[in-house]
Amino acid sequence: MNRAYYTDSYTLEFTSEIVAVVTLDGRPAVILDRSYFYPTSGGQPHDTGALRRGDEVARVVDVIDRESDGAVVHILDRPLVPGPVQASIDRDRRFDHMRHHTGQHILSQAFVRAAEAETVGFHLSPQSVTIDLDRADLSAAAIDRAESLANEIIWSNRPVSVRFVTREEAAMLPLRKTPPGRDGHLRLIDIDGFDLTACGGTHVARAGEVGLVKVARTERRGSTTRVEFLCGQRALEDYRRQQEVLRRLGAALTTGAAELPGAVARLQDELKAARADLKQRKAALLALEAAQLLAAAEPLGEARLVARVFAGREPDELRRLAGALVEAGGVGHAGGVVALLGLAGERSHLVFCRSADAPGAMGELIKPALAALGGRGGGGPTLAQGGGPAAGEAALALILTQAAALLRG
Ligand SMILES: [Zn+2]
Repeated sequence: MNRAYYTDSYTLEFTSEIVAVVTLDGRPAVILDRSYFYPTSGGQPHDTGALRRGDEVARVVDVIDRESDGAVVHILDRPLVPGPVQASIDRDRRFDHMRHHTGQHILSQAFVRAAEAETVGFHLSPQSVTIDLDRADLSAAAIDRAESLANEIIWSNRPVSVRFVTREEAAMLPLRKTPPGRDGHLRLIDIDGFDLTACGGTHVARAGEVGLVKVARTERRGSTTRVEFLCGQRALEDYRRQQEVLRRLGAALTTGAAELPGAVARLQDELKAARADLKQRKAALLALEAAQLLAAAEPLGEARLVARVFAGREPDELRRLAGALVEAGGVGHAGGVVALLGLAGERSHLVFCRSADAPGAMGELIKPALAALGGRGGGGPTLAQGGGPAAGEAALALILTQAAALLRG
């Protein structure tokens, strides 16, 4: 096994030899005599790239660390036969992984020093990079301290070196993390004077190449805290996106970024006040409408009957209008009110409502009306309602006339 990336993370173009051709889960794959391709392991995803021989090009779509013998298996999008090949690794993806993996070592040590929190998990994907810390009670200030320390280390641009030691030698060293796993030698990543840990991933050669580490969000998970962070290019892209959001919000509210929280709070207050005012005015308008309808009501024995069809309103408003009619009907009048209201439109609706002292069983009265409408619903003696399919104003008026006739006996 020759894992060239162990000692050199920067070589992305190399010549090699296909020494074995295999099939993995039905996909063509090859093993090279030496490879700089990183196989998925230790929380870091594999490299991608290409193998070329003359005009023949196969994409390396996955790289696997074969458990049985530790071979690095390159999964291809098409088969290649044994022999020499020119290999190339996709630069942006590899460098992104190097920056984030090195940034992770720095951030993990920073959390040890600034917050006494140990890293118990690491995950790197194109969507997000996270570490899991063994504490659930991290304050925002502690997270800021760790983030600041990590960036100081990055900007010090100290060397990041790789060396191999035996397990006996490793036992004498102040390692942050010692993996179980393979016998023999351990590969140590030394961030000069700051962090020493065993790791099999790809890293940058100087801390400054990480550029920046920014904690994006934290999430408490049981007794641990998941910290999502961004380094280098991803941090820059995130910064751009956030600035664009702020710019658009600022333009919409004609204010600067710093004034946005205050401007949004004022908007929320105004909206709340406007909603309360609207609610009040709607109720007043419904009461007024109810009074007008009552003024034109037909007599129904001692009571008054309001039978009307509306269009372009909501069923909920129809219910409130019925309520307002019943409420206003008792003022200065004995005998009560019966309201038979219909809503025409794409979805029809009926509300039959009466005051306690008015005649009629609304639940019974609405049954034939809904049957004529082809709708469903029901209710009790004083309030019943139901909805139906599309119906015109004339059809609903007829249904209400029939209901009124039933009511009159
Ligand atoms: Zn590492």
